[in-house]
Amino acid sequence: MARAGRVVRGCLDLLGRTIEPGITTKELDRLAEKYIRSEGGIPTFKGYRGFPGSICASPNDMVVHGIPGRVRLREGDILGVDVGVTMDGYVADAASTFPVGEIAEDAQRLLRVTQESLMKGIAQCRIGNRVGDISHAVQTHAEAHGYSVVQSMVGHGVGRDMHEDPQVPNFGPPGQGPELREGMVLAIEPMINMGGFEVEIGADSWAVYTKDGSLSAHFEHTVAITKNGPLILTVAEVAGV
Ligand code: MG
Repeated sequence: MARAGRVVRGCLDLLGRTIEPGITTKELDRLAEKYIRSEGGIPTFKGYRGFPGSICASPNDMVVHGIPGRVRLREGDILGVDVGVTMDGYVADAASTFPVGEIAEDAQRLLRVTQESLMKGIAQCRIGNRVGDISHAVQTHAEAHGYSVVQSMVGHGVGRDMHEDPQVPNFGPPGQGPELREGMVLAIEPMINMGGFEVEIGADSWAVYTKDGSLSAHFEHTVAITKNGPLILTVAEVAGV
């Protein structure tokens, strides 16, 4: 899973360096697929329940699950990119939201706080804690900054399949839910809206938008629970692997 995670990170880093005004999300998708396959991985999302892309590319008020296409990015946009890679039968899954050129200060703040919320959640990934401790940490940080947490979609266990038990909500009380045990691997993925938490599905029945049209950000890591604490697998180098 760490090998898959390294390719996920390499792909996100490559896309982060490539994203600029004028590029289309389809061009990013082609680049991502080429990179993942050149590293010996399989783009997990491609064909998943009929999803046509190798990445999800979700601009501005789109929360997640954007099908890459003719959307041409413009200066000031933000773009959520979600990448899944399968290697040797195991999956890693991560997402980042990138600025396109110069973005407004309030958008910068949304990106920063969403990433911080993810890291607050990851800090709770300790043996003996419960899933609700992750959920509560994410929600508390996001709401303290006046943002709302998407509730209809959640993080998840990850392993041989992209979506395994348990579900990992980004909201809820601490001390509840399944206990975290050594060796569990979770995809933690706050989806944070600048406005209300409500979302709606687009005409292609994939894209998820904020109902009020406000900006939304998404950051995700695949994280293993170890006796030494949380081990993030979707980074360039995983210690000891
Ligand atoms: Mg995920």
